[in-house]
Amino acid sequence: MLGRAALASFVGWVVACAATVRSPPPLPEPVVVVPSASLSSSASTVASAPPPRSPFAYANIDPSDDDVVGPPEPRATCEADLAAGKITSLPQKLTPYVQPKSKITCGAPQVVTYRGSPSKITWSPSVLVTCSMALAIARFETILQEEAQRSFGKRVVHVRHLGTFVCREMAAYPGWISEHSYANAIDVAELVLEGGATVSVLDHFAPKAATAKTKEGGFLRAVARRAYDEEVFSSVLTPFYDKLHANHFHLDLARFRSDGVTFVPTP
Ligand SMILES: [Zn+2]
Repeated sequence: MLGRAALASFVGWVVACAATVRSPPPLPEPVVVVPSASLSSSASTVASAPPPRSPFAYANIDPSDDDVVGPPEPRATCEADLAAGKITSLPQKLTPYVQPKSKITCGAPQVVTYRGSPSKITWSPSVLVTCSMALAIARFETILQEEAQRSFGKRVVHVRHLGTFVCREMAAYPGWISEHSYANAIDVAELVLEGGATVSVLDHFAPKAATAKTKEGGFLRAVARRAYDEEVFSSVLTPFYDKLHANHFHLDLARFRSDGVTFVPTP
């Protein structure tokens, strides 16, 4: 169990933000390739007691495909799910292709431009994502509204993000590519409240403090915690995770999970 968790954690670290990682920080421990036979007992323990899932849980919690690299499978119920959630989107084509120089595959078979949900939040720039990410973003908006109401008594009206689709290889780890390569990730940087106040990951998260010192920091931490714990996204990486994420939350639907919402004291 621990070996598997450590491996998944490492894989999450490697893949999550390849678009911005150019050189690897020191690894916490060597990577050990564990024979599948020795994983069977922990894997069966996980498989034997699946927890009940929220209908808004989109994270991939199946450990058996954690090491699969490639575009996500299309979601069979995509159009029906978008319609049921009253989510506005436009179908787009981002057919998987091999980038000539790097030879990595980018794109995804089922991509949309996300336009909004009943939470009435606008996004900029435009949001080109997989269908499952569109559904997860709509759920994320619900969490934003609930937590903004709790913290400020106000709604979130706008989100600024730093990118969704970027086709890039990861120089330090050949064979591993970011979920951004499949438009299966988004980097959330700033949230604008009604009235115009801005909550910024860079300015308000304050990752050196174990507990939030400001209303804005508490809001950001609550949002990130729920996005991970409620399985809205597979990976949620915050400024707690590393310096590459100092100014944004990386949210994705990778095949493995990565909890980057936990405070880690610096030695
Ligand atoms: Zn990212």
